[in-house]
Amino acid sequence: MLIPQTAYICEVGPRDGLQNEKKILDIDTKVKLINDVVAAGIKIVEIGSFVHPKAVPQLADTDEVAKRIRRSPDVEYRALVSNVRGVERAIAAGVTKVKLTVSASESHNKKNWNRSTQQVIHDFDDCIRLAAENRIEVSGAISTAFGCPFEGAIAVQQVVEIIKAFEKIGIREISLSDTTGMAYPRQVYEMAVTVQQLFPQNEWWLHLHNTRGLALANIMAGLQAGIIRFDASFAGLGGCPFAPGASGNVATEDVVHMLELMGVKTGVDLDKIIGVANVVTQQVEHQTESFILKAGKSKTLQ
Ligand code: MG
Repeated sequence: MLIPQTAYICEVGPRDGLQNEKKILDIDTKVKLINDVVAAGIKIVEIGSFVHPKAVPQLADTDEVAKRIRRSPDVEYRALVSNVRGVERAIAAGVTKVKLTVSASESHNKKNWNRSTQQVIHDFDDCIRLAAENRIEVSGAISTAFGCPFEGAIAVQQVVEIIKAFEKIGIREISLSDTTGMAYPRQVYEMAVTVQQLFPQNEWWLHLHNTRGLALANIMAGLQAGIIRFDASFAGLGGCPFAPGASGNVATEDVVHMLELMGVKTGVDLDKIIGVANVVTQQVEHQTESFILKAGKSKTLQ
């Protein structure tokens, strides 16, 4: 089986995971979680979002979290922003990479950001300028890239048009997000092959939710197409407050476990990351969909 020998995991639990929780964790708890995933070997962490606190109250304190985390020089700490105000907050908090999200679906953009797709992309320009002036890196994300709960299937061409718009403003690192878990392996494979052929200079991330149990299969399809960067969330927390039926991200420990079995190096210590996931479930006070937290590692004998 031909798959890459190394893969990179971005821990998105502090952002995509916690934003969907009823219980709002305090700043110290968030800071410790971020420090602990880094101690487990995670090199890229999405620490929160600089969006309107009323839109996502769970992450209203990302500014303070960013200031208090222990910074490792070889770790990338990124945050989600939706406008210039978000970039300003990222600068003030010392965050050096931001992620701008647009939906592949017009209806989802309206629901999520209260703007049309064209407006969202148009507004990126100011964010890019401000970020560049302050030496902040910018990446892009395309949510509902594989399907939208309001519009149904999303054509590859729709996604390609957004990638072109990103390219025009200089964004070459792009996350293809299956926000509501509608993607399936063949679709992921074909999308991954297509975008890599059309935009060979870009860096790609897959952001997969396990809403319908297909996230790990989709990661396999991505790997087979040569994708090596995957978002995942501790304990499988997550969802999208603006998309009906959206449930957990693929669990970080499930991804690391699968990759480790296949000899794909992630640099993440599986036992340590399972430990973090266990702590997270205690903090949010409920069980999650993580397979490894329920069943344990396959190599652990009874
Ligand atoms: Mg998500």
